[in-house]
Amino acid sequence: DEMDVDTIWMNGDFVDWEDAQVHVLSHALHYGSGVFEGVRAYDTDNGPAIFRWEEHLDRLYESCKPYDLDIPFDREELTEATVELLDRQDLASGYIRPIAYYGYDSLGVSPGDCPTDVTIAAWPWGAYLGEDALENGVEVMVSSWRKHASSQIPTNAKTTGLYVNSMLAGEEARRNGFVEAIVLNKEGNVAEGPGENLFLVRDGELYTPGLSESILDGITRDTVISLAEERGYTVHDNSSISRGELNTADELFFTGSAAEVTPIRQVDNVEIGNGGRGPITEELQSAFFDLVEAGDREEWFHYV
Ligand code: PMP
Repeated sequence: DEMDVDTIWMNGDFVDWEDAQVHVLSHALHYGSGVFEGVRAYDTDNGPAIFRWEEHLDRLYESCKPYDLDIPFDREELTEATVELLDRQDLASGYIRPIAYYGYDSLGVSPGDCPTDVTIAAWPWGAYLGEDALENGVEVMVSSWRKHASSQIPTNAKTTGLYVNSMLAGEEARRNGFVEAIVLNKEGNVAEGPGENLFLVRDGELYTPGLSESILDGITRDTVISLAEERGYTVHDNSSISRGELNTADELFFTGSAAEVTPIRQVDNVEIGNGGRGPITEELQSAFFDLVEAGDREEWFHYV
């Protein structure tokens, strides 16, 4: 099949791709009551390794809390399942998608006795927004859709239902000829991309929206903050960024497990900085790719 997936781990068992089915009356299908992760494994110089697995597991279990989802597997079981899944599919690198959701029991909005079903899939995956995007940057539009306010839905939980907002913003952008969107929060400040965090460079310093701006607490965001600080940059990681500051930025870039570090070269047809990948973006992007190639920062790699 097109995803190159033969085996999926489902509720404790490895099942063939075609047998990985859910009931059509599953709670999560109707109400978006699932939480998930997007993780990458890299074929590092120290061997295949899952990047920042522990932090992704932390966020997966934390995302469950507001919804009272109870994953009936502990961290070791999910880790073992993932490592074996990569091994069974001969994947030295790729994308890993764990998901936990309310399955089938009854179809009231209250999940009642619905089980928490858990599956993990993994497949090969290249650059999320394309190889060209990594080098030359992407053209984005500011979406007419706003992010959910964190007072309306927990935006720090990676919940399936939240992603209809991401889909609306991303598809609006693509219908208008852009590669991706930037989404403002309810206050009208910059929040993030549909599946990426955002960084702005101005006068040699970095700015990224704070956690109270209705963003997901991105793990790549955290990685890039560390890499930047280690290189002597000042990072303002609790910023409020107005829409107009996007246009006057020296550089802009996205971060994400899927998007890695992707430069943004235009916003709403206005060129950002030099109109390509900016120098600080390039430095941090190289630092990121060097890191995942070397795989030598042991606390950030789970070797498989
Ligand atoms: N924001 C949103 C809405 C996302 O879906 C993602 C991808 N998980 C991110 C930010 C980036 O987070 P991470 O670096 O942990 O992948």
